[in-house]
Amino acid sequence: MEKDPHTVARLAAERKEENWRFRSFLKRQSLRRTREIDRLAAQFGREAEAQMDCTTCGACCRSCHVPVDEAEVERLAARLNLPVSSFREQHMDPLDDDEPALRAPCVFLEGNRCGIYEDRPEACRGYPYIGGNIASRMIAIIERAETCPIVFEMLERLKEASGFHRYR
Ligand code: SF4
Ligand code: SF4
Repeated sequence: MEKDPHTVARLAAERKEENWRFRSFLKRQSLRRTREIDRLAAQFGREAEAQMDCTTCGACCRSCHVPVDEAEVERLAARLNLPVSSFREQHMDPLDDDEPALRAPCVFLEGNRCGIYEDRPEACRGYPYIGGNIASRMIAIIERAETCPIVFEMLERLKEASGFHRYR
C-alpha cells in the first residue's frame, strides 16, 4: 500500500482519466454486481484503514475544507479564545454552496495530528467516507483519491477486483 500522501497525489492525478472510465464502468454493472462491488469497496476500505496510521499523514487536514455547523463554530472559536466573528474571519471559508467550513490547512492541525481529536467536528469523524453505493459517489471518491492514501488504495484494489480493464 502506498502511504506517502505526496506520491498518492501524483499517482491519483496520473490515473484520473482511468478513474473516470472506471466510473462509467461501474454505472454499467448489474444490480447484483453493484452490490458485490460495494461490498468489496467497503472491505478494501476497512483493510486500508487498518494498515494506515493517519498520524503519519494528515493530508486531509492540510487540504480539505471541513463543513461545520453553528454549534461547532461556537465550540471551536471558544477553543482558541476568539469571538465567533474573528474565528470565522481568520479560520473559515464558505464552500461553493455557501456552507460554512474550516479553512485548509486546518488551524487545529499540529504536525500530522489533530490538536482537538476528541472534540473534532462531525465531518472529520466520518472521513474518508468509504461505504454505501460506490457508483453514485465516484465523483467525490475520485477527488478524495488525490488526497487520501486509504481511498487511493481502495480504488486501486477495486479496479483490479472488479474486472475493469486499465489499458496500461
Ligand atoms: S479538526 Fe482535526 S481532524 Fe478536523 S480537519 Fe482539523 S485537524 Fe483535521
Ligand atoms: S484519513 Fe486519509 S488523508 Fe486523512 S490522515 Fe488518514 S490517510 Fe491521511
